[in-house]
Amino acid sequence: MTDALSFVDENIRRIRGTISNACAKAGREPKSVRLMAVTKTVAPELINRAVKDGIELLGENRVQEYLSKKEQYISSAEVHIIGHLQTNKVKYIINDVSMIQSVDSERLLSEISRLAVKNGRIMDILCEVNIGGEDSKSGVSPEEIRDLLTAAVNTEGVRLRGLMTIPPPSDSDIFLGRMKELYDRLSEDFPMDVLSMGMTHDYAAAVAHGSTLVRVGTGIFGARNYST
Ligand SMILES: *Cc1c(COP(=O)(O)O)cnc(C)c1O
Repeated sequence: MTDALSFVDENIRRIRGTISNACAKAGREPKSVRLMAVTKTVAPELINRAVKDGIELLGENRVQEYLSKKEQYISSAEVHIIGHLQTNKVKYIINDVSMIQSVDSERLLSEISRLAVKNGRIMDILCEVNIGGEDSKSGVSPEEIRDLLTAAVNTEGVRLRGLMTIPPPSDSDIFLGRMKELYDRLSEDFPMDVLSMGMTHDYAAAVAHGSTLVRVGTGIFGARNYST
Protein backbone atom coordinates (compact mmCIF):
# COMPACT_ATOMS: atom_id res chain seq x y z
CA MET A 1 0.00 0.00 0.00
CA THR A 2 1.40 3.41 -0.97
CA ASP A 3 -0.12 6.49 0.66
CA ALA A 4 0.87 9.55 2.67
CA LEU A 5 2.06 7.41 5.59
CA SER A 6 4.16 4.94 3.57
CA PHE A 7 7.34 6.61 4.81
CA VAL A 8 6.65 5.04 8.22
CA ASP A 9 6.55 1.54 6.67
CA GLU A 10 9.78 2.22 4.78
CA ASN A 11 11.58 3.64 7.82
CA ILE A 12 10.63 0.64 9.94
CA ARG A 13 11.72 -1.79 7.23
CA ARG A 14 15.07 -0.01 6.90
CA ILE A 15 15.65 0.13 10.68
CA ARG A 16 14.82 -3.56 11.10
CA GLY A 17 17.34 -4.29 8.34
CA THR A 18 20.01 -2.23 10.08
CA ILE A 19 19.30 -3.99 13.38
CA SER A 20 19.56 -7.40 11.66
CA ASN A 21 22.89 -6.47 10.10
CA ALA A 22 24.27 -5.14 13.39
CA CYS A 23 23.12 -8.36 15.10
CA ALA A 24 24.73 -10.53 12.41
CA LYS A 25 28.04 -8.66 12.80
CA ALA A 26 27.90 -9.02 16.57
CA GLY A 27 26.92 -12.71 16.43
CA ARG A 28 23.54 -11.99 18.00
CA GLU A 29 20.04 -13.20 17.15
CA PRO A 30 17.90 -10.40 15.60
CA LYS A 31 15.12 -11.26 18.01
CA SER A 32 17.40 -10.47 20.97
CA VAL A 33 16.76 -6.77 20.22
CA ARG A 34 13.36 -5.13 20.63
CA LEU A 35 12.51 -2.08 18.54
CA MET A 36 10.49 0.55 20.41
CA ALA A 37 8.76 3.40 18.59
CA VAL A 38 9.10 6.64 20.58
CA THR A 39 5.91 8.65 20.26
CA LYS A 40 6.56 12.13 21.66
CA THR A 41 4.84 14.80 19.53
CA VAL A 42 3.74 12.13 17.01
CA ALA A 43 0.11 12.03 15.84
CA PRO A 44 -1.88 8.88 16.78
CA GLU A 45 -2.48 7.95 13.12
CA LEU A 46 1.27 7.65 12.54
CA ILE A 47 1.69 5.65 15.74
CA ASN A 48 -1.10 3.30 14.66
CA ARG A 49 0.56 2.90 11.28
CA ALA A 50 3.76 1.79 13.02
CA VAL A 51 1.74 -0.72 15.05
CA LYS A 52 0.18 -2.06 11.85
CA ASP A 53 3.73 -2.43 10.53
CA GLY A 54 4.44 -4.78 13.41
CA ILE A 55 5.77 -2.44 16.11
CA GLU A 56 4.76 -4.03 19.42
CA LEU A 57 6.26 -1.51 21.82
CA LEU A 58 5.67 2.23 22.27
CA GLY A 59 7.77 4.61 24.38
CA GLU A 60 6.06 7.55 26.08
CA ASN A 61 7.94 10.53 27.52
CA ARG A 62 5.21 12.79 28.76
CA VAL A 63 2.35 11.56 30.89
CA GLN A 64 0.00 14.40 29.93
CA GLU A 65 0.58 13.89 26.23
CA TYR A 66 0.15 10.14 26.55
CA LEU A 67 -3.15 10.52 28.42
CA SER A 68 -4.46 12.84 25.73
CA LYS A 69 -3.60 10.40 22.92
CA LYS A 70 -4.01 6.90 24.31
CA GLU A 71 -7.75 6.54 23.55
CA GLN A 72 -6.87 6.89 19.88
CA TYR A 73 -4.23 4.14 19.88
CA ILE A 74 -5.05 0.74 18.44
CA SER A 75 -4.60 -1.38 21.50
CA SER A 76 -2.22 -4.12 20.38
CA ALA A 77 1.03 -2.44 21.45
CA GLU A 78 2.66 -2.45 24.85
CA VAL A 79 3.57 0.93 26.41
CA HIS A 80 6.65 1.85 28.43
CA ILE A 81 7.36 5.15 30.17
CA ILE A 82 10.80 6.39 29.09
CA GLY A 83 10.80 10.06 30.17
CA HIS A 84 11.51 11.55 33.56
CA LEU A 85 8.49 10.66 35.69
CA GLN A 86 7.27 12.91 38.46
CA THR A 87 6.15 11.09 41.58
CA ASN A 88 2.71 12.71 41.49
CA LYS A 89 2.08 11.38 37.95
CA VAL A 90 2.57 7.68 38.66
CA LYS A 91 -1.09 7.26 39.57
CA TYR A 92 -2.17 8.20 36.06
CA ILE A 93 -0.19 5.48 34.30
CA ILE A 94 0.10 2.65 36.83
CA ASN A 95 -2.55 0.49 35.14
CA ASP A 96 -1.74 1.41 31.51
CA VAL A 97 1.94 0.71 31.07
CA SER A 98 3.92 -2.51 31.34
CA MET A 99 7.25 -0.96 32.28
CA ILE A 100 8.75 2.24 33.68
CA GLN A 101 12.24 2.60 32.19
CA SER A 102 13.16 5.89 33.84
CA VAL A 103 13.34 5.09 37.56
CA ASP A 104 15.93 7.48 38.96
CA SER A 105 15.22 7.86 42.70
CA GLU A 106 14.12 5.90 45.73
CA ARG A 107 11.25 8.32 46.14
CA LEU A 108 9.88 7.40 42.72
CA LEU A 109 10.49 3.74 43.43
CA SER A 110 8.42 4.00 46.65
CA GLU A 111 5.51 5.64 44.90
CA ILE A 112 5.50 3.04 42.10
CA SER A 113 5.57 0.35 44.79
CA ARG A 114 2.74 1.89 46.78
CA LEU A 115 0.46 2.17 43.76
CA ALA A 116 1.42 -1.21 42.30
CA VAL A 117 0.55 -2.92 45.57
CA LYS A 118 -2.68 -0.95 45.86
CA ASN A 119 -3.65 -2.02 42.33
CA GLY A 120 -2.65 -5.63 42.86
CA ARG A 121 0.05 -5.66 40.23
CA ILE A 122 3.78 -5.87 39.80
CA MET A 123 5.47 -3.14 37.75
CA ASP A 124 8.54 -3.97 35.69
CA ILE A 125 11.18 -1.27 35.98
CA LEU A 126 14.53 -0.21 34.59
CA CYS A 127 16.79 2.11 36.51
CA GLU A 128 18.14 5.03 34.49
CA VAL A 129 21.89 5.59 34.53
CA ASN A 130 23.43 8.96 33.65
CA ILE A 131 26.43 7.24 32.12
CA GLY A 132 28.03 10.44 30.80
CA GLY A 133 27.56 12.34 34.09
CA GLU A 134 25.82 15.17 32.25
CA ASP A 135 24.10 17.86 34.33
CA SER A 136 21.32 18.17 31.77
CA LYS A 137 20.24 14.53 32.06
CA SER A 138 18.27 12.63 34.64
CA GLY A 139 19.39 9.26 35.87
CA VAL A 140 21.64 8.04 38.64
CA SER A 141 25.43 8.16 38.42
CA PRO A 142 27.36 4.89 37.90
CA GLU A 143 28.68 5.31 41.47
CA GLU A 144 25.19 5.48 42.98
CA ILE A 145 23.35 2.97 40.84
CA ARG A 146 24.10 0.00 43.10
CA ASP A 147 22.17 1.62 45.98
CA LEU A 148 19.12 2.19 43.79
CA LEU A 149 19.22 -1.40 42.48
CA THR A 150 19.49 -2.70 46.03
CA ALA A 151 16.43 -0.66 46.98
CA ALA A 152 14.60 -1.90 43.87
CA VAL A 153 15.11 -5.60 44.58
CA ASN A 154 13.93 -5.03 48.16
CA THR A 155 10.77 -3.16 47.21
CA GLU A 156 7.45 -4.98 46.85
CA GLY A 157 5.31 -4.46 43.80
CA VAL A 158 8.24 -3.78 41.48
CA ARG A 159 10.40 -6.15 39.46
CA LEU A 160 13.85 -4.95 38.44
CA ARG A 161 14.40 -5.90 34.79
CA GLY A 162 17.47 -3.87 33.87
CA LEU A 163 19.02 -0.52 33.03
CA MET A 164 18.31 2.35 30.66
CA THR A 165 20.61 5.12 29.48
CA ILE A 166 20.95 8.04 27.09
CA PRO A 167 24.68 8.44 26.39
CA PRO A 168 26.18 11.84 25.49
CA PRO A 169 25.55 12.15 21.73
CA SER A 170 29.06 13.30 20.87
CA ASP A 171 30.82 10.30 22.45
CA SER A 172 28.02 7.80 22.33
CA ASP A 173 30.22 4.89 21.18
CA ILE A 174 32.54 5.17 24.20
CA PHE A 175 29.67 5.51 26.65
CA LEU A 176 27.64 2.66 25.09
CA GLY A 177 30.65 0.43 25.75
CA ARG A 178 30.96 1.69 29.32
CA MET A 179 27.27 1.12 29.89
CA LYS A 180 27.54 -2.51 28.75
CA GLU A 181 30.50 -3.06 31.10
CA LEU A 182 28.52 -1.57 33.99
CA TYR A 183 25.48 -3.70 33.10
CA ASP A 184 27.57 -6.89 32.99
CA ARG A 185 29.25 -6.10 36.30
CA LEU A 186 25.96 -5.31 38.05
CA SER A 187 24.31 -8.39 36.52
CA GLU A 188 26.56 -10.55 38.69
CA ASP A 189 24.67 -9.28 41.76
CA PHE A 190 21.34 -8.22 40.29
CA PRO A 191 19.65 -10.54 37.78
CA MET A 192 18.60 -8.41 34.80
CA ASP A 193 17.56 -9.08 31.20
CA VAL A 194 17.00 -5.64 29.65
CA LEU A 195 19.62 -3.11 28.57
CA SER A 196 17.75 -0.19 26.98
CA MET A 197 20.05 2.03 24.93
CA GLY A 198 20.26 3.34 21.39
CA MET A 199 18.23 6.07 19.64
CA THR A 200 17.99 7.22 16.04
CA HIS A 201 21.61 8.35 15.77
CA ASP A 202 23.24 5.45 17.60
CA TYR A 203 20.97 2.39 17.63
CA ALA A 204 23.25 0.31 15.36
CA ALA A 205 26.23 1.06 17.63
CA ALA A 206 24.06 0.28 20.66
CA VAL A 207 23.21 -3.15 19.23
CA ALA A 208 26.92 -3.77 18.59
CA HIS A 209 27.47 -2.96 22.29
CA GLY A 210 24.79 -5.34 23.55
CA SER A 211 21.60 -3.31 23.77
CA THR A 212 18.46 -5.44 24.03
CA LEU A 213 15.98 -2.60 23.43
CA VAL A 214 16.44 0.37 21.10
CA ARG A 215 14.20 3.45 21.34
CA VAL A 216 13.73 5.12 17.97
CA GLY A 217 11.63 8.26 17.38
CA THR A 218 12.71 10.48 14.48
CA GLY A 219 14.14 7.53 12.56
CA ILE A 220 10.61 6.09 12.30
CA PHE A 221 8.34 9.15 12.30
CA GLY A 222 10.57 11.93 10.94
CA ALA A 223 11.61 15.18 12.61
CA ARG A 224 9.55 16.15 15.62
CA ASN A 225 7.13 19.03 15.56
CA TYR A 226 7.65 20.66 18.94
CA SER A 227 4.75 23.07 18.53
CA THR A 228 2.21 20.25 19.04
C1 LIG B 1 13.06 11.13 22.37
C2 LIG B 1 13.68 9.94 23.01
C3 LIG B 1 14.16 8.87 22.25
C4 LIG B 1 14.14 8.84 20.74
O1 LIG B 1 14.97 9.81 20.20
P1 LIG B 1 15.22 9.88 18.62
O2 LIG B 1 16.52 10.57 18.49
O3 LIG B 1 14.09 10.66 18.05
O4 LIG B 1 15.26 8.49 18.11
C5 LIG B 1 14.68 7.78 22.93
N1 LIG B 1 14.72 7.74 24.28
C6 LIG B 1 14.28 8.75 25.03
C7 LIG B 1 14.35 8.64 26.51
C8 LIG B 1 13.75 9.89 24.43
O5 LIG B 1 13.33 10.89 25.19
